[in-house]
Amino acid sequence: MAEVSDRVRDLPPYLFAEIDRIVNEKICQGVDVIDFGIGDPDLPTPPHVVERLCREAADPSNHRYPSYQGMPEFREAAAAWMFRRFGVTMDPDKEMLALVGSKEGIAHFPITYLNPGDVALVPDPAYPVYQTATMLCGAIPYYVPLRENRHYLPDLNAIPEEAWRKAKLFFINYPNNPTAAVADLCFFEELVQYCRKHEVILVHDNAYSEITYDGYVAPSVLETPGAKEVTIEFHSLSKTYNMTGWRIGFCAGGEKIMEAFRRVKTNIDSGVFNAIQLAAISALEGTRSYLEETLKIYSRRREKLVNGLRNMGWEADMPKATLYVWMRVPEGYDSKGFTRELLERAGVVVAPGSAYGPNGEGYIRFSLTISDSRLEEGLQRIQSAFS
Ligand SMILES: *Cc1c(COP(=O)(O)O)cnc(C)c1O
Repeated sequence: MAEVSDRVRDLPPYLFAEIDRIVNEKICQGVDVIDFGIGDPDLPTPPHVVERLCREAADPSNHRYPSYQGMPEFREAAAAWMFRRFGVTMDPDKEMLALVGSKEGIAHFPITYLNPGDVALVPDPAYPVYQTATMLCGAIPYYVPLRENRHYLPDLNAIPEEAWRKAKLFFINYPNNPTAAVADLCFFEELVQYCRKHEVILVHDNAYSEITYDGYVAPSVLETPGAKEVTIEFHSLSKTYNMTGWRIGFCAGGEKIMEAFRRVKTNIDSGVFNAIQLAAISALEGTRSYLEETLKIYSRRREKLVNGLRNMGWEADMPKATLYVWMRVPEGYDSKGFTRELLERAGVVVAPGSAYGPNGEGYIRFSLTISDSRLEEGLQRIQSAFS
């Protein structure tokens, strides 16, 4: 039997594996497990988007290979959305690309710039793909801690000069998964200046730009003067339009970066089913009313959950954005230990903060993608188990 490659062998273990094992054990024992673990919208895709897909799927002209970079109509709709939403002007031909979900783009983009032994700045804690995609290039992640006392923004001055010099990419993600932190344009401006100075490409994952509350509006890095030449920004329809299963997203960035990335992608995937791209145009061009309704539901759940957890005397932040509530574990526990206690004593699954990196230790993440009634029941169980 052939050995797996060193790169695959050296990937970090899947940290949810142990939790998954215990969850399955519980389910087999007949326990009714309430899952606050995964961030996957429970609400349906807007009906007009589904209808468009059905119509377009029946049209044989959509059945052949799609174009590599995405249909011109889709890239135009995405660029128009970027303009309406952030006031940034992107050239749909040179500065936009369709993706098979933003994860696909984030995972493949590092191939464009990273040689074996190169360095990428990766936040800790973070969505795991930044780290693993870097490692699959044979490159080295340099971990940048995100800490509560800095509102989970990296301390740019604390990154050693040598790390800045060696780095080719800097991954960031605001609104942030898993901490639910947000960043403002001042921070993006400072970050863009650092990246320009050190010739580092800023890779911004903006998957949660629309999932915001209390009037907060999330910015794009591309709004920052001088950002374009050093930035690629990833957008997803998954969370905004409840379309995780559809696999479509897009990226926007400077012409040189996009041109290089296109060379990688034409050799890997063959685009997104045209019918899905056309349905995605209907999503991007639709009114915000469906999204606003969805946000009201998440916002209500967020308040119920945070208030309930605070009533237990626990420290949970009221998120301004994302689908997550990030909570410090009570005294005497670590992330995994408290995750296990919640499962054992309340039949409730959460994500341990340590699964997102060593600096996530001491926290857990609750997802809001669970029905109101299950959320309430989960909270009641936690209250009776721990009070
Ligand atoms: C959900 C998520 C994505 C992936 O979105 P897709 O477009 O469905 O691939 C990317 N980044 C973060 C931080 C996410 O939470």
